[in-house]
Amino acid sequence: MFLKLPEKVNIVEVGPRDGLQNEKNIVSTEDKIFLIEKLVDSGIKKIEITSFVNPKWTPQLADGFEVATKIKKQQDVNYLALVPNLIGAKKAVESNLNEIAVFMSSSESHNKKNLNRTMGESLEILEETIKFAKSNNLKVRAYLSTVFGCPYEGNISVEKVNELLKKLFSFGIFQVSLGDTIGVANPKQVKEVLESVFTIIEDKSQIAVHFHDTMGMALANSVIALEMGIKTFDSSIGGIGGCPYAPGATGNVATEDLVNMFHKMGIETGINLEKLVESNVFLEKILNKKLNSNFSKTFMARKNSPI
Ligand code: MG
Repeated sequence: MFLKLPEKVNIVEVGPRDGLQNEKNIVSTEDKIFLIEKLVDSGIKKIEITSFVNPKWTPQLADGFEVATKIKKQQDVNYLALVPNLIGAKKAVESNLNEIAVFMSSSESHNKKNLNRTMGESLEILEETIKFAKSNNLKVRAYLSTVFGCPYEGNISVEKVNELLKKLFSFGIFQVSLGDTIGVANPKQVKEVLESVFTIIEDKSQIAVHFHDTMGMALANSVIALEMGIKTFDSSIGGIGGCPYAPGATGNVATEDLVNMFHKMGIETGINLEKLVESNVFLEKILNKKLNSNFSKTFMARKNSPI
């Protein structure tokens, strides 16, 4: 039996960045803009639209500045971009965004593969980037990857995670999203990690979760996180995504599936599910492939009748 469920949760849509960056076929700038605007039209209030990383590493998002400056921004929506360093943060300021996301891993080997830096070097760069962003009135959230397991090192100690959280918050971020980068977390582990994190973080809204559905456990993990007091969940439309440096990792939990589950539990998201499915249909068309959302698949198979 659930003890206490919130009335409302926050969904952070990461499909246009975290999802698309793993797609080989380049999506046109116009299609990206259309997708972002369509997702916002479905009621999404926070959306990661692109990243300002070196296009050599992420050719799919080489048009980040164009996307960020051309979308029609709604007043009550938070548009954010992933940035790896000061150069990226400067681009976020130039493109009038109000928030950025920075990132690092909680394991040395994944950090090295993904970012080509040691964790110590990452922390130095993040400190400088976060301070610059804050002095330019940008809010900063951070992704901590591989919290629940690393493809190279296996288990990650919760003490290490807490040490990193302390450092990141001391730099001025407002939230950390704990990433299950390779989708190995299980509900018992999620409970244990969050229990440990909450021994040093009093305000639970400072913690978000970012689950991948590699092993089909993302929704189960989300329920436990919810029960533990988490109210911010990252997800991507159609479950797109993965991690190029985490072999075998499949996509993020699908936004439609997460939203459907919350609605069925009587928890508000402010998002219109039918409109989300329309975004899924559009994305399937431009990517020319079937996407991994159980809700969208079922909804379409039942010819759009409510389930
Ligand atoms: Mg992800």
